[in-house]
Formats: sequence, C-alpha cells, structure tokens
Amino acid sequence: MRALITGITGQDGGHLAELLHEKGYEIFGLIRGQHNPRRQAVEAEFPYVTLIEGDLADPTSIVRAVEIAQPDELYNLAAISHVGYSFKNPTLTAEVTGKGVLNVLEAVRLAGLAEKTKVYQASTSEMFGGLDYNRPGRGYNEESLFHPRSPYGVAKLYGHWIAKNYRESYGMFVSCGILFNHEGERRGVEFVTRKITHAVARIKAGLQDHIELGDLWPKRDWGYAGDYVRGMWQMVQHGTPDDFVLASGETHSIEEFLDLAFAEIGIDDWKPYVQQNPAFMRPAEVDILLGDPAKAEGVLGWKREVDFPGLVKLMVAHDLNLVGAAG
Ligand code: GDP
Repeated sequence: MRALITGITGQDGGHLAELLHEKGYEIFGLIRGQHNPRRQAVEAEFPYVTLIEGDLADPTSIVRAVEIAQPDELYNLAAISHVGYSFKNPTLTAEVTGKGVLNVLEAVRLAGLAEKTKVYQASTSEMFGGLDYNRPGRGYNEESLFHPRSPYGVAKLYGHWIAKNYRESYGMFVSCGILFNHEGERRGVEFVTRKITHAVARIKAGLQDHIELGDLWPKRDWGYAGDYVRGMWQMVQHGTPDDFVLASGETHSIEEFLDLAFAEIGIDDWKPYVQQNPAFMRPAEVDILLGDPAKAEGVLGWKREVDFPGLVKLMVAHDLNLVGAAG
C-alpha cells in the first residue's frame, strides 16, 4: 500500500507515518518550502518516508506529488492549524486550510486517480464553535450545527464541505474526521497544552519562573494524538466514505490542565507561576468543546487508550526528559 501524507512535519503527520510504517506502507510526505527548517528533523525521525516538495497553495505541485506517489490512501493533514495565528493571517489561512483541500481533491482527479485513491480530510471540532451547544452533556456529533468562530474554523468548514461535495459529485472515497483537540509529545509549543507542559518542565529545571497565558476558563475535549491517527486510518479502511467525530467525550478547563501538570512536579498551587497576558486572548473565543465519539466507536470500533490524566502525565514526563529534569 502507498500513502501520501500532507502535513508530514506536523504532530499528526509524525504519528501517522509511524503507524503506517508499522503496517508496511510505502510512505510519501509532502514538504513545503525551500530550506524548510523541519526537513532535517523529519528525515532523521522518519528515514522511511520519501519527501516530495510541494505546497497546498500551489495546485500544480500537488498534482505532481500525487503523480509521483500514486497513493492508495491520501491523508490531507496539512493546514495552517493555529486558531490564534489564523486571526492574524486570515487570507493565508483561507488559501491553505480552505482552498488547499480543493487543490488536493482536484489533483487526485487530474492525475486520473479518482477511483483508486482514498482521501482522508482532517476536519475539526473548531467548525462547531461552541455556540450551538445543542446537546448539553452529550457533546457534538456528526449531526450538530456548525458555527465556526475563527478564520481557521471557517476555512476548515470550506474544506469539509468541498470534501463532501467531491464524495457526492464524483463518487470519490473522501472521509472527513471531525477531530476534537488532540495533543501529545509532538504538539507544537504554540498550543496551550504543550506550552504548559514544556513550561512546567522548564520551571522544574530552573530555566524559567513563570508562564504567560491567555484565558484559563475555556474548556476543551482533549485526547491523545496517537489514538486519533489510528481512528483516521480506520476511517479509510471502512467500506464506505463517511464523516466521523473523534473525541474523548470529556471536557476540561485549562485550569484543570494546569492542576494536573503542576501536580506532576509537586506544585499544588500554580497561581504564583501563571500570569495572564492579553496577547494570548482571541478576538472570539470558543468557550467549550465536547464531542460524542459514539459513531466512530460503534461503526469503526475506535477506542482511545489514553485518558485526560494519562495525557497530561505523558506530556510532562516527555518534557522533563527533554529539558533534562526527569527523575
Ligand atoms: P484550539 O482549541 O485549537 O484553539 O487550541 P489551543 O491549544 O491553541 O487553545 C486552546 C484554548 O486555550 C483556547 O481557548 C485558547 O484561547 C486558550 N489559551 C489560553 N492561553 C493560551 C495560550 O497562551 N496559548 C494558546 N495557544 N491558547 C491559550
């Protein structure tokens, strides 16, 4: 089996490359830009991945990548994926995160692979936006209303619908995973979970004495990325293309994340170590996200293995190792 992963330098790209390698896939990864600073790291960590240069915003480069890879499965994970950043770069976000999906789907068609290549589109819980919280206590599912609250969420919603449109218009196998926040040791430090665990480890090591954050009350449904890429693969193996929510079914505030993360280094009261900085607040906030993974669990047999305390623990342990403060 041959797989093409866009977004190979990202968190999910790394987890997925590992999973597909274990399963014996020949893996191709789309990598962006001249002198991409992450190229060397990817080459070192995943020597079995063949890198192809290309950019989601450049349709011809995607056609070329698809022609080279001739993929049985294409995982479109590439995106400008940071909500805060998308407010500052909304046009670029629309171009890459939104229209980039169209470029991928058209590339598959133009390469004559519409019948062969199964496509996974990385949709997101940010499409829900936390306003039409119409299933209190049970969480958003595949039938819930969308109301994105950021340029990122709006761009992803375009990607979601164009993916469904190609499924319906051309009979292509295109499945959309509506994934709630998924974190882990590969998460970028621009996301709040990793920012916290990285800072906690550095505080333990005496490398910094506080952390600056935005709002602490928002709640997220956090899971482990390794569990979620397994769900992506299961969606592509399923007999028919469809949409599936992957979530933990629990929601926790950033304050709760801080409680658990600081407890790992023996600090019960984190307040002296946390300063609020408006620079990390957003023009519009998603107050609460909670997902209902019942369909993925029932239809695909997907199950997460890492729970919320387990996630915090593994991330802090990883970062303590990273800064040399473990044990
Ligand atoms: P998101 O849910 O995709 O936006 O993932 P993030 O990890 O970027 O943000 C999760 C939540 O943490 C959001 O409600 C942010 O507003 C909130 N937050 C609070 N402080 C910070 C911060 O310093 N950085 C980030 N990235 N988010 C923060």
